[in-house]
Amino acid sequence: MTLTPLQLTRPASTTDAFLRQLVARVPGSSAAPWRLTEVYTGELLVELPQSTPADIEQAFATARAAQRTWAATPIKQRLAVFKRAHTIFVDNARTVADLIQVESGKNRQMAIEETCDPPMVMSHYLKRAAKLLAPVRRGGPVPMLTTSTEIRQPKGVVGVIAPWNFPFATGISDAVPALMAGNAVVLKPDNKTALSPLYGIQMLEEAGLPKGLFQVVCGEGPDVGPTFIDHADYVMFTGSTATGKVIGERAGRNLIGCCLELGGKNPMIVLDDADMAETVAGAIFGAFGNTGQICMHIERIYLPESRYDEFRNAFVARARALDVRAAYDFGPEMGSLVSVDHMRRVKSHVDDAVAKGATVLCGGKPRPDLGPAFFEPTILEGVTKDMLCGVTETFGPVVALHRYRTIDEAVALANDTDYGLNASVWGRDMAAAHAVARRLESGNVNINDILATAYAAKGTPSGGVKNSGVGARHGDQGLLKYTDVQNLAVLKKQVMGPRPGQDPEKYVVGMLSTMKLMRKLRIR
Ligand code: NAD
Repeated sequence: MTLTPLQLTRPASTTDAFLRQLVARVPGSSAAPWRLTEVYTGELLVELPQSTPADIEQAFATARAAQRTWAATPIKQRLAVFKRAHTIFVDNARTVADLIQVESGKNRQMAIEETCDPPMVMSHYLKRAAKLLAPVRRGGPVPMLTTSTEIRQPKGVVGVIAPWNFPFATGISDAVPALMAGNAVVLKPDNKTALSPLYGIQMLEEAGLPKGLFQVVCGEGPDVGPTFIDHADYVMFTGSTATGKVIGERAGRNLIGCCLELGGKNPMIVLDDADMAETVAGAIFGAFGNTGQICMHIERIYLPESRYDEFRNAFVARARALDVRAAYDFGPEMGSLVSVDHMRRVKSHVDDAVAKGATVLCGGKPRPDLGPAFFEPTILEGVTKDMLCGVTETFGPVVALHRYRTIDEAVALANDTDYGLNASVWGRDMAAAHAVARRLESGNVNINDILATAYAAKGTPSGGVKNSGVGARHGDQGLLKYTDVQNLAVLKKQVMGPRPGQDPEKYVVGMLSTMKLMRKLRIR
């Protein structure tokens, strides 16, 4: 059965009063608020305040004041907040999923899975943070008489800029290690999807995070960006490659660090011994999960001649049968795109490909009968590099099938892109799959999975290479990037340099032979 948007009832938790209470935290002296709408119907959910440069300056000042006390709070006490938060986040996952769904239009399963990310990040860093942040005593240049200690200091105020595709995960998860490390955070979510991260901040405060420490400002990127970056001590950005370059440039001019998690044009390589049923199921998620709006999702599939028809027939049949519609229950397998504007962009990629000779094997059209921003799961053949979707990230439910003759050709085709975020290799022979994976120019490679294994492995850094980013989240560096190192050195007695009246030549000989001795004794 196909529901029309008019038959939809918004989730009970998303009352007008609750939404108004959430946005009340956003400073907004701008006269014109943003109309935050329900994606499935286009109806107004709440008016979102828009922050002016003065509001942003004030948010950073408030965060900076709160940060000093927070940084002086013992790490055990800081981490206790996140132990409590973990429980609160898990207990309220359904409400979070309601907010994610109304503001992003994704299907229920993706929304509920997204709610798991911040607790997983908390859980990981609750195990690692104290060790990572503890001072590390290193030897000094002169044994016994000198020491050098590596001390991790918080950067100060970290600015987090988040996209709309995983608003709760990118808005909150990247803030967690920054806060644990003793920083304050100012978050700028996307206007379309500010509700779920606002609720995340509320839950962190319920868990005991000091008020004022986690600020949020809202506005269109180019309006907010300059003031925002100019007041931050570090910027954690997730979004498109084009915006990432703007952010990186400004951060560079201000001599502050930044981590840029950007777009992808991610390939999937199917090897000739792949389990076809699992591969097709994987490809369905890879291409159409989150309506194709996952930075690590698959837009290019490379198949050996020997398996091409078998895969294509099964994949197209499965894609045609997908349950695509608007609902707040677990029925639909695919939901809406995030906005009408984005749907038009996705359509323009498909139209361009068709105009230049690509074949549509299924889908290819908007579905206004399902909701204003719905687009069909679309599989293309004959996509070339003169087409928009042949080179640029489409970020929608659109995937192209390609044939390859040799492994070398498959690897070359997969690497023939400016991006390098994620790749997926499918095959039964693990050694062969590994060998292919190691040759791919990609920050993440999943064997016999699309993305979840790499992304959920919170102990390993995850980031993009080439135009897909700079730096990484997760792993030790996902927390340490929010710190500066202070090298605290102590000299117990002055022994370096010539003694008063010492013949300089004797001093040089003594120094050089000591260096040789120390090398031999493996002291330095
Ligand atoms: P976007 O770059 O348009 O916007 C991302 C965020 O940056 C939004 O909050 C936006 O308001 C803000 N922004 C835009 N211009 C700005 C400016 N000049 N200064 C400061 N902030 C600015 O990206 P999007 O369309 O919202 O998100 C989709 C993109 O994000 C895709 O390319 C996707 O691949 C990428 N993404 C990457 C990852 C990753 O981890 N690598 C994860 C999710 C999404």
